[in-house]
Order: sequence, then structure tokens, then C-alpha cells
Amino acid sequence: MKVLIVDDSPDALTVAKARLLKEGLEVICADGGRAGLEAARVQHPDLILLDVDMPDISGFDLCQQLKADAELGMIPVIFLTGSSTTADRVKGLDIGAVDYVTKPFDAFELRARVRAALRTKHLQDLLIKHARLDPLTELPNRRALMERLQQESSLIQRHDGSLSFIMADIDHFKQVNDTHGHSAGDRLLQRVAQAIVGQCRQTDLPARYGGEEFAVIVPGEDASDAFYLADRCRRAVEAVTLELGPDTLRTTASFGVADATGSSSGQDLIQAADEALYRAKQLGRNRVELAAHTSQPAHLR
Ligand code: GH3
Ligand code: MG
Ligand code: MG
Repeated sequence: MKVLIVDDSPDALTVAKARLLKEGLEVICADGGRAGLEAARVQHPDLILLDVDMPDISGFDLCQQLKADAELGMIPVIFLTGSSTTADRVKGLDIGAVDYVTKPFDAFELRARVRAALRTKHLQDLLIKHARLDPLTELPNRRALMERLQQESSLIQRHDGSLSFIMADIDHFKQVNDTHGHSAGDRLLQRVAQAIVGQCRQTDLPARYGGEEFAVIVPGEDASDAFYLADRCRRAVEAVTLELGPDTLRTTASFGVADATGSSSGQDLIQAADEALYRAKQLGRNRVELAAHTSQPAHLR
């Protein structure tokens, strides 16, 4: 794990760094508050050791700036304080630090407090990761999808650009459960998830939207392009097989594709893709339909 030490004293940096390197940690140093903020932004450390008295920005002010930042606020801070007054220690903890070490620090105590803070950080990272992951398919879940959709749609509202959204729903999936059991249904869901992921680029976000519904956020493309991605996904799902004793189980899925124009919210996109998906179901399933008000793909023009 990576630790950032922010202290205006070169001696303090050298000593703290030497002690933490013994823990097998990656250590980055910043020689003041401003440099510390920049290093935190660029390096994303797992823990920040922060000196209280610094000439450019005080440790307290820097800590408050870090805690107010959505991304950096999750990084635990331990204050390195020359002061041993209760008031200063209380202040540090109240503005969001997890701990403090009084200078000159004892090497064993410093390392033990760093280990404790990193243990908690590791658990916090795991919780955050699992809160956004669907356990069955290991795809991003609906929470992660909604967060990303929000980011992408506000991005294209501010700057021009394209954004598409694909919604997919497995056809007659209830029959799979009814005929072969829930556990076969689960395994089929995993295969379908892999088939969809296999067609996506690094910049796309495939996710499990709900039960047997999947979605893909496609940044940088309008619906006439995303149509082709959806159709590749459709064919990949059609090619999925699940061996069940002597039987081979196959399935299909229906797809709806929509794109954002300047003012559409994430919710508008979902609704438009969902309406197109509904049409794909009505028109016989195992097909891709475009939302109204989108440009047609080249082969349909
Ligand atoms: P349609 O073609 O109209 O979409 O029909 P369908 O049967 O796929 O749709 P319906 O909404 O009637 O049924 C969806 C089924 O998906 C019902 C539900 O039990 C099943 N399902 C949802 N989540 C899971 C899951 O995690 N595992 C399993 N095995 N089944 C699930
Ligand atoms: Mg459904
Ligand atoms: Mg279905």
C-alpha cells in the first residue's frame, strides 16, 4: 500500500520515510501543504501522514480540503503533531483525521498506528468495491451503473459528445428456472454476462441492471453505432451454451438502444432504451430495436 508523508521539514520526512520503508510500504514525500494536495490528487495514496505546522497551508486546513473532496476524502489522515495539547489532538480528530502521532515519534508506535489505519482502509476499499459489484456475475451492479451514467450524461451536457445506452433482457428466462431449476438459471446468467462483456471495449460499462436484465453504457457513440455493439452482444448471447447432463441449454436476449441528445438525463436514456427493448420483445424477441428519435444505422437507411 502507498503512504504519502507531508511535512515541511526535510529531516522529519527522511526519518518517517525510513521507518515506513521497513514496513514494505511504498512511500511518497511532499515538502509542504500545496505539494501534498497535488501528490494526493496524482498518486491516490492509501494513507496520508500530515504535519500540522507548515508555512504554506496548515495541516488542519489541508485536512479539511481533503475531507471536502469526494474522491480524496476517503483517504485516512494521521496527524504528525509537535503539540501535545489535548485541544489540538481533539481538533485534528474532529476535522476527520483517524489518528495522530506526537513528534518526536517512537518508531514502533508510528508503524503500529500506520498498520492499524491501513487495515481499516483495506476493509473500507473492500466494502466500496463490493457495494458496486453484482456477486453472481461479478459485473458492476445497478448502483455502479447509475453513478457512471450520471457522470457521463452530465459530461455531455457540459461538453458536446455522444453517449449511448443499451438495455438487454433475456428472453423467456422464467422458463429456464421453471424447467431446469434456479441454479441452472444462475449459471446461464453468468454465461450471458460473460458474452456481453466479451463484446465491450475498455471504455464501455457493461452492468447487471436487475434480475435477467443487463445494460451497457457506451460513451462516445451515438445509437446508430451502439446498435452494432448491441447486435454483436445479441449474437454472442445466442451462441452461449450451458451443458446440463445430456441437454445443451441455449438462450437469446432482446435489446433496446438509445442515445443522449444535449439535454437528456440518465433517467431519460434508460426510459428510451427500455421502450425500445419493449418493442424488441413485441416484435418477436432476439432482436435489437432503436429508440425513437435516434439516427438509423447505415444498413437500415
Ligand atoms: P421475457 O422474454 O418477456 O423477458 O420473459 P421472461 O421469462 O424472461 O421474463 P419474466 O420477467 O417473466 O421473468 C424473469 C425471471 O428471471 C423471473 C425470475 O425468477 C428470474 N430471475 C431474476 N433474477 C434471477 C437470478 O438471479 N437467478 C435466477 N436463476 N433467476 C432470476
Ligand atoms: Mg425482465
Ligand atoms: Mg426476460
